Amino acid sequence: MASIGFIGLGHMGGPMAANLVRVGHSVSGFDLSDDLLRAAAKLGLRACANAAEAVKDAEFIFTMLPAGKHLLNVYREGGVLQAATPGALLIDSSTIDIESARTAHRLAQEAGFASLDAPVSGGVGGAAAGTLTFMTGGTIEAFERAKPVLEAMGKKIIRCGQAGAGQAAKLCNNMILGISMIGVCEAFVLGEKLGLDAQALYDVASTSSGQCWSLTTYCPVPGPVPASPANHQYKPGFGVNLMLKDLTLAQSAAQQSGAATPLGAQAQQLYSLFAAAGHSGDDFSGIIHLLRGLT
Ligand code: NAD
Repeated sequence: MASIGFIGLGHMGGPMAANLVRVGHSVSGFDLSDDLLRAAAKLGLRACANAAEAVKDAEFIFTMLPAGKHLLNVYREGGVLQAATPGALLIDSSTIDIESARTAHRLAQEAGFASLDAPVSGGVGGAAAGTLTFMTGGTIEAFERAKPVLEAMGKKIIRCGQAGAGQAAKLCNNMILGISMIGVCEAFVLGEKLGLDAQALYDVASTSSGQCWSLTTYCPVPGPVPASPANHQYKPGFGVNLMLKDLTLAQSAAQQSGAATPLGAQAQQLYSLFAAAGHSGDDFSGIIHLLRGLT
């Protein structure tokens, strides 16, 4: 079993670290929040006073932070790169911009460490259940070394390519999700106007060419998929704030790389409007209200 440092014990990092403890790893954790640190200690983590203490002696160093600036800050000012033991593998599972991900890889390499970007999908439920999908970028050696540890937290561990490829896959996937949800919502709104029963539309589209995850798992109207957030007052699930974050990162990556993503840009604008109307804490499938003209 490995010695692991884990920085960022929030909605995702807390349960992910707990799963590492569950399979027998020795995990030292740090978060800026004292409450989260105390909660993590109850689950068997060693609570540390700062990031440098958490990574000292660790063979694997995980970060699960809000954005690229937090990661680079933890690596530099937080003392992670100075305190880490030679041979440690640095794994960042936060969703961050590609440029920061590549900078983080470069800083790690300059300090003599192997590194992986390893963002996840599957949400808080997947983090708790240990069923996340990891999309990784980095060398084959780093991937092979990390895989057995990642398997304690996820059921699919995919190597997407070199440094930054995991973040690229994450942004592309979530751009599909943001766009497809709006498409599904538009179809239900059109169906309503045409007097079409929502269950009938679901029964047809879910077994026809309109089939997609936004329809069959997260159906944006109550009824057809009982577990979808639409049946629970659009409580997240996957929040509008997180979808907007990912679509904004995708737009920034599209601009920098010269990719044409007109539907991604439109989706980003629509979620931005919905968030500005006071719905940033709702599930992203609630965007159907905006399309109905209700805020
Ligand atoms: P969160 O805000 O709950 O957790 C982030 C944690 O980082 C907080 O507890 C914060 O105190 C801590 N933190 C910030 N700066 C720090 C520092 N310098 N040192 C130590 N701790 C610090 O966010 P989350 O929902 O757990 O998401 C984490 C990452 O995972 C984000 O990048 C997010 O986009 C991504 N993600 C989230 C979900 C989801 O459903 N919540 C799904 C997939 C990916």
